[in-house]
Amino acid sequence: MMASGNAYEQLISKHREMNTLQTISWGLNWDQDVMMPPKGLKSRARELEYLAGLIHDMVIDEEIGELLDACESDESVIGDRLSVSAVNVREIRRGYDMAVKLPSQLVKDLTSASSLARAAWADAKKNNDFKGFAPQLEKLVALLREKADCLGGGEDGGEKWDALAEEYEPGCKARDVEAVFKPLRERLVDLVGRLAESSYQPKDVVNHVEVDFDQQLSFAKVIAGKIGFDFEGGRLDTSSHPFCSGFGYGDCRMTTRIHKNKMPDALSSTMHESGHGMYTQGTLEEHAGTPMGSYVSLGIHESQSRLWENQVGRSEAFWKWCMPLMHEHFGEKFAGVHARDVYESLNIVERSLIRTQADEVTYNLHIMIRFELELALVRGDLNVADLPGAWNEKYKDYLGIDVPDDGVGCLQDIHWSLGAIGYFPTYTLGNLYSAQFYEKANQELGDLHAMFEQGDFTTLLGWLRKNIHEHGMRYRAGELCEVVTGEKLKADALLRHLEGKYGEVYKL
Ligand code: ZN
Repeated sequence: MMASGNAYEQLISKHREMNTLQTISWGLNWDQDVMMPPKGLKSRARELEYLAGLIHDMVIDEEIGELLDACESDESVIGDRLSVSAVNVREIRRGYDMAVKLPSQLVKDLTSASSLARAAWADAKKNNDFKGFAPQLEKLVALLREKADCLGGGEDGGEKWDALAEEYEPGCKARDVEAVFKPLRERLVDLVGRLAESSYQPKDVVNHVEVDFDQQLSFAKVIAGKIGFDFEGGRLDTSSHPFCSGFGYGDCRMTTRIHKNKMPDALSSTMHESGHGMYTQGTLEEHAGTPMGSYVSLGIHESQSRLWENQVGRSEAFWKWCMPLMHEHFGEKFAGVHARDVYESLNIVERSLIRTQADEVTYNLHIMIRFELELALVRGDLNVADLPGAWNEKYKDYLGIDVPDDGVGCLQDIHWSLGAIGYFPTYTLGNLYSAQFYEKANQELGDLHAMFEQGDFTTLLGWLRKNIHEHGMRYRAGELCEVVTGEKLKADALLRHLEGKYGEVYKL
């Protein structure tokens, strides 16, 4: 008993040491994207590579394996599967097994293949030359299939894609994703068609207004603070691709993007990152540096960002509250613009080619296309050479558009070139979870829109803290969803949200 008790403490202390190196490297990454002068690149790369080596050695340290064995034979540590100690042991074991199952040669091959693929992708995208990228992608897919075989299909068996997704969405199975995506796809294709044909089309009246960069940033900070982001424990800066990361507990760094004539876009991306940031800030300090102080999965992380970006920030109630603040902050810039105008401008649905510019409705179709194609690649049902054709066919089927070239088609995203297969669905899983969580919060708390109109965001944030943030990694995503909402993840809540809202905006 005594020895195992010690084993658990030693395990946690070793894990926290490793986590400290991780948070240092996250901080250096933030600095690189936000602050670092260009000439710092080489030394920063050296620093990060050095840290990555130290972290890897600590993850696969045999002593971790021994401590895990000792903890797992002690009922007082793992007897209650949802206790803090049992969850920490389970998750440290998961990370340890994933790392030691991969032969070091394969890890090296993957690193070099993805760095070549990334370079080839950048050229191919620029020159619209898929053939220049195809051999690198083929190599990468072959190595990823090998990786999946080494990992062994996730916790309870399963297919290759499941094993690859484990890194981003623990416990996620392709067959479960397919089961939720299929009804979603059918109804969204139908909804997009009805919106396009509607006799009423909302107009964009805010995105042409030119607004000073600093004024936008200071307004973004005001809004982030009002919805609950704690600036005593974080910062908001700018970068070309918005992200949220940080150093250790109590230091959450997020960024937003600002264009001079896209003020609402800066606000949406700020609310999105604030959702990520508030999740991070909502974990408990006593669990810092352990799985219980971490996040469930990328899908759950994304559910928090999408909830604040879409359910809150794209609601009319939010803009009824925000509009007077906007007039006050920007003076005459938005004179004559009403809450309803901004609301409609932010909720225009368009069939378009580029995922990152897609609206709340069509976005999910972009993701489903990528999921279906990457699944076919990993299953061996699709050859890399046939990817552009398959891509274009799906864009025609689901979105009704012709893809003029691969640069704006299957070469548009960086993910596959980095070897990130299993990543894309986490975006739509985030939308699905966010809708299901939000609906439940609305049932339990009363009329959330009435609260937003009064500027009350604390009630909703408190609910998210108690039901999601404070649990760290206690539950897997699917189980968390059942514990919080009483139901498995389904497409229903997201469909109710999208069909209800857009039906109203487009006067269907
Ligand atoms: Zn996000």
